[in-house]
Amino acid sequence: MGSAVSRPKSAPAMATRQVVLLVGSAARLVEAVEASGGQAQVADSGEAPELLRRLGPSVACVVCENPGLLPELRKGEYKQIFTIAMDEALADDPLRRLGAFAQGARMVSAGPSFVEKAVAQALEVARQVGPFACPGCGLCLSEDALHLHMHFHHAVENLPKAPCPICGEQEGSVAVHVHNRHGPSDAREPPSAPYATFAWCVCRHPDGRFLLVNEPAGISGGRPGFWLPAGRVDHGESLQEACVREALEEAGVAVRVTGVLRMMVDSQQTLRVVFLAEPEDPAAQPKSIPDWESVGAMWVTVEELQKLKAEHYRHPDPAELFPPVAAGKLQPHPVDTAAFVELEALIRRLTKGERKAAKELDRVWQNVVSTYPASVFQR
Ligand SMILES: [Zn+2]
Ligand SMILES: [Zn+2]
Repeated sequence: MGSAVSRPKSAPAMATRQVVLLVGSAARLVEAVEASGGQAQVADSGEAPELLRRLGPSVACVVCENPGLLPELRKGEYKQIFTIAMDEALADDPLRRLGAFAQGARMVSAGPSFVEKAVAQALEVARQVGPFACPGCGLCLSEDALHLHMHFHHAVENLPKAPCPICGEQEGSVAVHVHNRHGPSDAREPPSAPYATFAWCVCRHPDGRFLLVNEPAGISGGRPGFWLPAGRVDHGESLQEACVREALEEAGVAVRVTGVLRMMVDSQQTLRVVFLAEPEDPAAQPKSIPDWESVGAMWVTVEELQKLKAEHYRHPDPAELFPPVAAGKLQPHPVDTAAFVELEALIRRLTKGERKAAKELDRVWQNVVSTYPASVFQR
């Protein structure tokens, strides 16, 4: 007989969550789950709650079409389970999409390609057991896994105020702190450029739909409210480069700029430029795996947009910008004028922190103002 201290070599050091529960038509993902090293369990909607109670602590992920199962998964220990609603009709309808997030889906996706990747990621995170407890769900992970997990798993909700589980520091949002102070250095946010200016992207599909982003809950009132791809111009970037980058990061869509719609200067003299863009590949599916940048994105028609209310947005700019663009009332202006080309070159120098560049701003801006119609400069 073996002594009490001996243990079979194959026994894992600590239990990890490696079961993926596939509910209803998600059963078609069995092979993909197994290819990612997970253990697939299949159930119909009726069986799922009981199976979940039995398997709870070993479940990494639940994939289901019907989000009715999800509210139960928000409680207690179930909070550590990554929940995916996979349904085309759900993912492509903005209100139903928000409804699925409100019911407890951590990800909403039209089809299996993104879901397979997300399941693999949930399994990989769960394998990296470590000493750092997530302040949102208590899952104990390595530093790198926690860094990935916090935005992947919790992009749809506000995290409680808590000290950093890695270094103990408490400053502002624990999610932002962990993202920028810990984990792989190339996955952190670069420091802000020394000059603040912003690019917004109104991306119109050739079929007339527009690109809408679900913003991370932490910057959107605690739920993934809608907005358009937009953000601050990075170090050494031009406005158009920032517009393209933000569309790729927040919506997963490669775009090209086709014109400028608005140039807005606020009371702090901060410039925000709204570009019109189109997708490089009209068949490209917007992203649906949550991360630091967004919870996902979708194409929306103007008719669907008109069903949304102010509370469904981070800010209702899409409701103000998309309909007049669709109706031809808000027209794009060229970005290849001498004045705009000069502005872009100057923005690149300003965001690099070139002090001399600031002295040229007035002249370059006056040139832009005299080149474009006054309506471009309205808010
Ligand atoms: Zn967590
Ligand atoms: Zn820390």
